[in-house]
Amino acid sequence: MSKKIIYIDMDDTLCDYASAHQLALKLYPEIQFPQSKPGFFHDLLPITGGIEAMRQLLASQHYDPFILTAPSVMNPLCYTEKRTWVETHLGMDYVHRLIISPRKDLLKGDFLIDDYNEGKGQELFTGKVLRFCNGQVFLERF
Ligand SMILES: [Mg+2]
Repeated sequence: MSKKIIYIDMDDTLCDYASAHQLALKLYPEIQFPQSKPGFFHDLLPITGGIEAMRQLLASQHYDPFILTAPSVMNPLCYTEKRTWVETHLGMDYVHRLIISPRKDLLKGDFLIDDYNEGKGQELFTGKVLRFCNGQVFLERF
């Protein structure tokens, strides 16, 4: 039996974007988009349990995992920093499995784990969307 292709989102699924963004807004009130500061994406903290879950998925006989993240297109640094974050926290195996796409529905696969179910093509993804919320995964669509 072939492995199931599973995509995992980055921001607020693998890394804690929301907390860092709230902090940056307080620290730099004069900056409209503090998430565009150099280092913002690279310095995001991993969400509890995410790194271990990704290791287990990679070792699994049943799943073929890939990271699928939409870029902040106005921030050219985010493309590089998403790549360096993955190398730092997950290693080169996952760098080879990193897909940066503004349209998640263009990728073929069985599952997508994401904290949003729409906005970047999630609503048109042909596999099952598994909603990530408060550290847990929920079945969003059959
Ligand atoms: Mg997200």
